[in-house]
Amino acid sequence: MVRKLDADRFTWLRGGINLPRKLIHRIGLLARRNQIRVASLSLVVGITIVSSMHSQELPRSNDLVLPMDAWACDDMKVHQVLGPQSPVGCDRLRLVKFAFVDFDRQSQENGEIVVMDAAAKHVLQIFQSLRQLGFPIAKAILMNRYDGNDDKSMADNNTSGFNDRTIVGSTTISLHAYGLAIDVNPVQNPYVVRTGAVLTLIPPAAADYVNRLDDRPWKKHRPGLVESVVDVFADNGFLIWGGYWDNPIDYQHFQVGRKFAERLARLTPGQAEAAFDDLVARYRGCRRASPPSVANDRTSCIVASDPTANDP
Ligand SMILES: [Zn+2]
Repeated sequence: MVRKLDADRFTWLRGGINLPRKLIHRIGLLARRNQIRVASLSLVVGITIVSSMHSQELPRSNDLVLPMDAWACDDMKVHQVLGPQSPVGCDRLRLVKFAFVDFDRQSQENGEIVVMDAAAKHVLQIFQSLRQLGFPIAKAILMNRYDGNDDKSMADNNTSGFNDRTIVGSTTISLHAYGLAIDVNPVQNPYVVRTGAVLTLIPPAAADYVNRLDDRPWKKHRPGLVESVVDVFADNGFLIWGGYWDNPIDYQHFQVGRKFAERLARLTPGQAEAAFDDLVARYRGCRRASPPSVANDRTSCIVASDPTANDP
């Protein structure tokens, strides 16, 4: 009920204050989407259809990596998702479109997330793998819809990527501002911060998910907890999970190392993509090494693949 009221108020505020601009944007959105559809049919340039390396199923027709065009870049700026001080420009961002399974076990074709160019094909691989595993996603809507407001996105249980913002409760730039962090199902996977003996959960609706065990006698299965898919993210370069941390614990959050992100932002797009591919190859090589041992478990391979991953 609280979430419903918040959503209504948000809609009213946007409608009341920005109605003419919003109408113009909606018209622009429709026109632009049609152009993108036509372009996606007629042009191969700039559009990458990535096959699933581990998936048995064929990629869906709308599993796509798209460059951000001028309209999409402007829309992010208008909605405070992309600012003038962003560590990467719009030219370094990609729109990843994907199908997913929702919590009602229904297939949805409208997943969208914005990430850095170097990581885009691996991010598409992540969502293709999640779909193959039947891992449910509540929704994946661009942060533009929430005017870059992370609290609203979390309360709406939205899965998201790029957002030019600082880390919650600090002035440090977030890895989301590089397009190299992904938040998944915030209600099932809350952000937990401890102050003394007091735990605060964001979003508040996540209170039922403080207990992280899924396999419990007499309890219903709770799908959507990311513990079951940490390997999918690590296998595609997102080595760091916020569930590894002590305070805050950010269960919904996956990212690359900060030093690695800063390096990718300095490189040319081609160099950055090669560097990301190298990271993925190092990690997978480590994990697939035989015989299986402590030396190639997930933790050891994270440390070996990016020794700077935990640097501030
Ligand atoms: Zn996050």
